[in-house]
Amino acid sequence: MIICVVVVLLKCITICLVINEALKKLTGLFFILHSTKMSEERFWNNLDRTEGENKCWVWKLSCNSEGYGNACFKGKRIKAHRLAFELFHKRKIIEGMFILHSCDNCKCCNPFHLREGTPKENMNDKVLRNRQPRGETSGRSKLTEVQVLEIRNKYAESNWTYTRLGTEYGVGQSTISYIINRKRWTHI
Ligand SMILES: [Zn+2]
Repeated sequence: MIICVVVVLLKCITICLVINEALKKLTGLFFILHSTKMSEERFWNNLDRTEGENKCWVWKLSCNSEGYGNACFKGKRIKAHRLAFELFHKRKIIEGMFILHSCDNCKCCNPFHLREGTPKENMNDKVLRNRQPRGETSGRSKLTEVQVLEIRNKYAESNWTYTRLGTEYGVGQSTISYIINRKRWTHI
């Protein structure tokens, strides 16, 4: 009789321990899922989405020297637009692939403006958009940053036309148009 009671008691203790372990595992899993969700939410909250869902979602925190957002996720540093792509598509970026912007806004993390591309596509994209090299460092630029700012100021403040500005600075009207409309020299 006593042996029976001891056996039953032992079984009860074993069952309790198993349940306890299972609960611990479940709590741990819940904690991981919860903290991941929190980190994701924190990331999306660091974007300025006031312009609208279809517009650029601009990274509000620090950026690197190239203008891409610096993000941190689960203790790892990652570029903000790359993290946006991974979180949105719920998968890692294929190794060696770049994340390209259709909007040409480095700070933008709107997943609908991002696509995966090969290194070659990335380079073609940069050449097409005249992003690299930029400004005075491009080697074929006739203008300095100071002159570009002067051109914008003159156009904004007085009655300078594209033609007159072009003649003054020895460049074509199209160049003046690109400067005024910020299609070139976008970094100043
Ligand atoms: Zn964008």
